[in-house]
Amino acid sequence: MKLSKAIASLLAMILFATTVMPMAAGEPSVQQLHRDGRQLTLEISQEFEPAMQQNLADWVDFLADTLHQVYGYWPQQQWHVVINPTSGRTGDPIPWAQVKRDPVHTVEFYTVASASADELRRAWTGYHELAHLLIPYRGWGDAWFSEGLASYYQNVLQARAGLLSEQQMWQKLYEGYIRGVQQSQFNGIELHTVSDNMRSNGGFMRVYWSGAWYFLTADAQLRQQSGGRTTLDDAIKKLNQCCSRERLSVPQMVRKLDQLNGSDLFVPLYEKTRTTTETPDFLPVMQSMGVIVNEGRVQLLGNRQQASLRRQIIGRRTL
Ligand SMILES: [Zn+2]
Repeated sequence: MKLSKAIASLLAMILFATTVMPMAAGEPSVQQLHRDGRQLTLEISQEFEPAMQQNLADWVDFLADTLHQVYGYWPQQQWHVVINPTSGRTGDPIPWAQVKRDPVHTVEFYTVASASADELRRAWTGYHELAHLLIPYRGWGDAWFSEGLASYYQNVLQARAGLLSEQQMWQKLYEGYIRGVQQSQFNGIELHTVSDNMRSNGGFMRVYWSGAWYFLTADAQLRQQSGGRTTLDDAIKKLNQCCSRERLSVPQMVRKLDQLNGSDLFVPLYEKTRTTTETPDFLPVMQSMGVIVNEGRVQLLGNRQQASLRRQIIGRRTL
């Protein structure tokens, strides 16, 4: 789910929901995109000007390529993207977006009618929403896990697409962590409880960035333990290959992940993360990858192996 930077509190969430409403939709233009025998159905509202419809189609084609790079194919045989206009605020070309998983995985975007192709490509929301499709999440429960995956991969995918440098990607991860730390009003309460009550009570930053820590930690450990031969991409690809048609709970997914990968990582890290009582410290795992922080700015250091493993994260790697 898209979470605009401005919506860090429940109050802002309510305000957002009442002020940003999609316009009435007419008959959309529909086109099909294909990669490797898989099909994306793209529906664009005809309320957009023709030139804007082309911008949006180009943007989705670009986004779909970044998703394609993770597994070397799209996570689902058939999926949909639906785009409608919204009277959003300036400065955010995609004020609202969400993923619906039934019956076909559908990403809904509400975009500002005047957004340029470049603004759309640079908006993190597109990468975030598509990253949700990487796992066969049933859509409810342990939202921190799904949002953490999307929050981690939104940065990784932008770096792989050439929109963020390696340093900028780590800076974004660090700044996300800081936003999680700064949202301290639920400190002392375990993450699973904060996550379950997020829609009514807030705590989005704590939830999203605790989840991102889970996936950064898992990715770093897989790479470090295997000398770079196994990555998070590889691990979740196996889950996709076995179970992409299923709708799994997070406990089911982490058990599958460990079974499929012969690891003892995803379940214990899940148990550890869901019971954290504040945003986990990103600095040790960043440091293990040779990333240190000096006065709020990340620096890429470390030895040759750390640098090599780190660079692999942003490489366009498929099995
Ligand atoms: Zn999300």
